[in-house]
Amino acid sequence: MTDYDTVSADVEHEEEIPEDHPRYQDLLTRHRIEEGVEKGITHLQGMHAEGRGSAFDYLLGEATIPSADAAERAAAAHLLLADDPVLSINGNVAALVPGEMVELAEATGADLEINLFNRTPERLEAIADHLRDHGAEDVKGLEADARIPNLDHKRAKVDEDGIYSADVVLVPLEDGDRAEALDAMDKTEIVIDLNPLSRSPQVADVPIVDNIIRAVPNMTEHARELADADEAELQEIIEDFDREAALEAAEDRIRNGL
Ligand code: ATP
Repeated sequence: MTDYDTVSADVEHEEEIPEDHPRYQDLLTRHRIEEGVEKGITHLQGMHAEGRGSAFDYLLGEATIPSADAAERAAAAHLLLADDPVLSINGNVAALVPGEMVELAEATGADLEINLFNRTPERLEAIADHLRDHGAEDVKGLEADARIPNLDHKRAKVDEDGIYSADVVLVPLEDGDRAEALDAMDKTEIVIDLNPLSRSPQVADVPIVDNIIRAVPNMTEHARELADADEAELQEIIEDFDREAALEAAEDRIRNGL
């Protein structure tokens, strides 16, 4: 028996999870989601979503594959070129990468907007407070004064000066219906989802098949590196990215380990 066998997912603080544990990221992710549920940030259903993601990440080798890195660079270029970029935050995103989303927003000039599948005033407030605790100054999504067309009323709620009027949106771990409805609004849609066959990455302009825990900091790194790039350079990165090839590469890795 190795020392690792004595580490359960049921730790009090994430610092107790040894960073050299072979399943470190998985344990960390599970711990943050459990904490999110306890704090009223994450809906219980978020645990099921996490379980699905965890299985795909295992098959991907729990690593950012080259096509995901290219997608993350293209996503950073899109956000930097956008007039009104918005990063959408749901309960899983808030639990997993609150500070990292704040940093990405700062690096790209994007707004943060809370957008929940299971929307309650209590969860909205808990998530807004959690983001503010992690450095967010302005949090959108509380007004909900506009609607995404062709989506049922409750899930369609967005801010008029946020997701509704955004030209580029990052929607991580998004429900397929909402991703399709946003796509129909002609926005440039960036999706982070570990399942390349899920509808959300299938409709995305930039599908990022990677764990959000790795994807967001890597996007920020690319954005910082590209901060002084001119428009032509950013356009070239966007044009060089091939969404079909990226989806295929991820599926190949998952199915065949290639
Ligand atoms: P559809 O998009 O077709 O509605 P679904 O019902 O499987 O698919 P949801 O439950 O709405 O999707 O969203 C969960 C998705 O988020 C899953 O595809 C899962 O792989 C993905 N996911 C879960 N955890 C993570 C994570 N940490 N990083 C990236 N993706 C994740």
